[in-house]
Amino acid sequence: MKELKCRDAGFDCDAVVRGDTMDEVMAQARPHAEEVHGLEVTPERAAQIRGLVRDV
Ligand SMILES: [Zn+2]
Repeated sequence: MKELKCRDAGFDCDAVVRGDTMDEVMAQARPHAEEVHGLEVTPERAAQIRGLVRDV
């Protein structure tokens, strides 16, 4: 299981995204970032976000 805490990405937000794979986590994190935080997920930013995903 992998986990990404939105707070770790620098937002004051308690959202936590979990998935079995990096792709699953990113598939949820991308719309969250775009819709909730108005963040454009560029390839560079996606790479940064991947770096924040932890194994749990
Ligand atoms: Zn968030």
